[in-house]
Amino acid sequence: MQSKKFILQESDIPEAWYNVIADMPEKPLPMINPETRQPLSVDDLSALFSKEASSQELNTTDRFIEIPDEVREMYKIYRPTPLVRASGLEKALDTRAHIYFKNESVSPVGSHKLNSAIPQAYYCKKEGVTNITTETGAGQWGAALSLAAKHFGLNLAVYMVKVSYNQKPYRRSIMQTYGAEVIASPSMSTRAGRKIITENPNYQGSLGTAISEAVELARSTPGCKYVLGSVLNHVALHQTVIGLEAEKQMEMAGEYPDIVIGCFGGGSNFSGISFPFMRHNFSGSRHTRFIAAEPESCPKLTRGKFRYDFGDEAGYTPMIPMFTLGHDFAPANIHAGGLRYHGAGSVVSQLIRNQLMEAADIPQLETFAAATLFAQTEGIIPAPESSHAIAAAIREARRANEEGSAPVILFNLSGHGLIDMTAYDSYIAGDLVNHQISDEQIDRDTADLQGI
Ligand SMILES: *Cc1c(COP(=O)(O)O)cnc(C)c1O
Repeated sequence: MQSKKFILQESDIPEAWYNVIADMPEKPLPMINPETRQPLSVDDLSALFSKEASSQELNTTDRFIEIPDEVREMYKIYRPTPLVRASGLEKALDTRAHIYFKNESVSPVGSHKLNSAIPQAYYCKKEGVTNITTETGAGQWGAALSLAAKHFGLNLAVYMVKVSYNQKPYRRSIMQTYGAEVIASPSMSTRAGRKIITENPNYQGSLGTAISEAVELARSTPGCKYVLGSVLNHVALHQTVIGLEAEKQMEMAGEYPDIVIGCFGGGSNFSGISFPFMRHNFSGSRHTRFIAAEPESCPKLTRGKFRYDFGDEAGYTPMIPMFTLGHDFAPANIHAGGLRYHGAGSVVSQLIRNQLMEAADIPQLETFAAATLFAQTEGIIPAPESSHAIAAAIREARRANEEGSAPVILFNLSGHGLIDMTAYDSYIAGDLVNHQISDEQIDRDTADLQGI
């Protein structure tokens, strides 16, 4: 292992996030308020979210949005994060491709999620909110928000997808250690949860269901706001610190990426690494390829339908114009819990329609083989989610080998997998399988959605 790191100073932490919508050649279609059937307004959104997050969500004009000092201060706990040339991996692949990764696993909670948890908690505090609630899949978002909530003095209740609650008990204890209350979802504590449990007592939960429960709690509790860890524009906005730093670091390395890759759950880390580089594609000065890596078992970008759909199972959220497998879609219990989500955000969906980015769907076993090779060559055990990005990077390097080319590949290492060792145990024991879904299932689960 002789991988080289590119390190920035604290003063290099960006002073503003990049708002990609301002530069998009074709803006995303509006999100719709399902009650009024009108385009969503800041007032609609701020019933649920902080006012600042709500106005960021609908900001289509400001290219850069200032990062508050209090947020930059807390970013300093772990930012800037390193950019690493993956020389060990390159050697193992016997490739002329140059492979770099941005290491977001160095945050205290082990993932990129803190980048948005901090500003969202900060805005709630500033606006006088006392309680916040959210959902979490694998537990990464819940862990990040627990820390941010404690830092800013907010009470937090987290609905955690039941399959992860049981598979990843340490993520639960991490959240509890930071002082959050954690509830397995579906739960009996909400109307949405009770309905699902009554219909299907063994249901292991999904992000869509957990979102319904958290939204319901926020709506029925005074002084309580809802906070979301992915999918929405303001979350992607906050994550652009990743790509803005990486841009400076690639410059230090004297290179510019031909291919940028991120794994894809709701799109926040992919957006974070990609959008700052994408702005140079919009201006025509660069021609980078952007690849979102998603699970074969949850292939909304590669095989989903472009529709107006809800972000959650019960239909409490606004209707989002997006690539979706349908909000009723129940993904297989793969270990990459953070990627088990039925849809994509409106911005990414529009970028795909305009062929400004691509997607790849990756079987579970391929992701664990890639993770193992990465751990052995670069030393970091990656999160099962991040392993999708690694697998996609390896595919591109192998393709380059066949073509005799030498592209510069940059991927985001969204998190480490040290709390996911039960998943690695299953892989080592040979117990993991791939999960495919049929065209019929996709047709069935999206049949009722309004076409666009
Ligand atoms: C949550 C999570 C993801 C998926 O979420 P996105 O919003 O698509 O980034 C990916 N990797 C890790 C480590 C996560 O915690």
